Amino acid sequence: LASRELKAEDTIVKVGNVKIGGNRVALIAGPCACECRSQIMEIAASVREAGAVILRGGAFKPRTSPYSFQGLGEEGLKYLREAGDKYGMPVTTEVVSPRDVEMMKNYIDMFQIGARNMQNFELLKEVGKTGMPVLLKRGMSATIEEWLMAAEYLMANGTDQVVLCERGIRTFERATRNTLDCSAIPVVQKLTHLPVIGDPSHATGIRDMVSPMALALVAAGASGLMVEVHNHPEKALSDGPQSLYPSQFEKLVRDVQALCPVV
Ligand code: PEP
Ligand code: MN
Repeated sequence: LASRELKAEDTIVKVGNVKIGGNRVALIAGPCACECRSQIMEIAASVREAGAVILRGGAFKPRTSPYSFQGLGEEGLKYLREAGDKYGMPVTTEVVSPRDVEMMKNYIDMFQIGARNMQNFELLKEVGKTGMPVLLKRGMSATIEEWLMAAEYLMANGTDQVVLCERGIRTFERATRNTLDCSAIPVVQKLTHLPVIGDPSHATGIRDMVSPMALALVAAGASGLMVEVHNHPEKALSDGPQSLYPSQFEKLVRDVQALCPVV
């Protein structure tokens, strides 16, 4: 279903009133996690002002340590929805369990499947059944073929609204958190009609590397970017070291606009 052979023209995924796909770049931005109402409100205001069109913010966080901040759960979804509505942005957030899918539908415009759950097939089936847009991150050790088969699970179960997201893979290199696989963008575009975007934040894990890699993704043909932005990165409860300051995000948006048309 995801194959270019089956459908030659690019799929455009509609998230609220925002279209992802084709030659325009859609900017998704927000904090790693919704930490409290004022935090997401403040960040939403600044990323919207800078040019973001979709707001992100995790409510269920898949953390390496069970003792790390796990997210606010449903309370976080309420704040995310409120912030998106106030600043006119559809919202996306990660789903980690099939049992949350029904509840989450009421709050969000696009599900996010995280790298750690890319091959959680029962989760893919439940999310696919909603027919809603889904942002499918590439697993950190997944081949492109495995990633596309995960998209196939979503589509076989009832959604045709899938956006793929390259977020870096695990290699022997430790200078960055993951290794951004820019070549995945043109490879995927050849194999599938689905839109593919890039996440330079999780790909690098380091704030100063985020903007250069974001521009590399755009140059490679990505149809969008997902970027973590925090109003006080040094106090962030997750992924502070890779979160851009709002002023850095503004600058990045201007640089992206100089390279290509944005949504
Ligand atoms: C995230 O987007 O906050 C996240 C956890 O990303 P990934 O699943 O790519 O690690
Ligand atoms: Mn994160």
